[in-house]
Amino acid sequence: MTENLARKGPRPPLIAKKPERKKEPRLLAIIDQHGCTGCEACIVFCPVDCIEIVPGVESQFQQVVEVDIERCIGCALCSKHCPWDTIPMLSYEEGIRQAPELTIKSVCNQKERSDAGSPAS
Ligand code: SF4
Ligand code: SF4
Repeated sequence: MTENLARKGPRPPLIAKKPERKKEPRLLAIIDQHGCTGCEACIVFCPVDCIEIVPGVESQFQQVVEVDIERCIGCALCSKHCPWDTIPMLSYEEGIRQAPELTIKSVCNQKERSDAGSPAS
C-alpha cells in the first residue's frame, strides 16, 4: 500500500473511530477548497461517511469540507454531485500528493499547504 505522506499526526478520536477501508482505492476524491462553498451537498452521497466539515479558510464562521483520504473508496459520487465542480477525482498517488495544496484546512491531520514537500512526520 502507498504510504499516505499527507498525514501530519494522530487522527482526532472521532475520526479514528470510524471504520477503516478494506483496500487502497484506484482513485481519491480531493476537495479543492478554493471553490468549495460549504453547501454540504456532497456529504449525503458518500457511502462511507468520509467527508468532514472543516472551519473555513478565511474565518471560523465559514465552513468548507474535506475528504478523509484514508477512508475514501474512490466511488466518485461526491464529485458527480458537487454543484460547484470542486471535487477532482485523482489517482491515489496524485491525490495524496495534491491534497495539502487543494485541501487547505483539514481536521483529518492532512498536511497543510506550508507543509507540502516536507518529509513525513
Ligand atoms: S458539494 Fe462541493 S461546494 Fe458543496 S460542500 Fe461539497 S465540495 Fe463543497
Ligand atoms: S469518492 Fe466516494 S467515498 Fe470518496 S469522498 Fe467521494 S463519495 Fe465518499
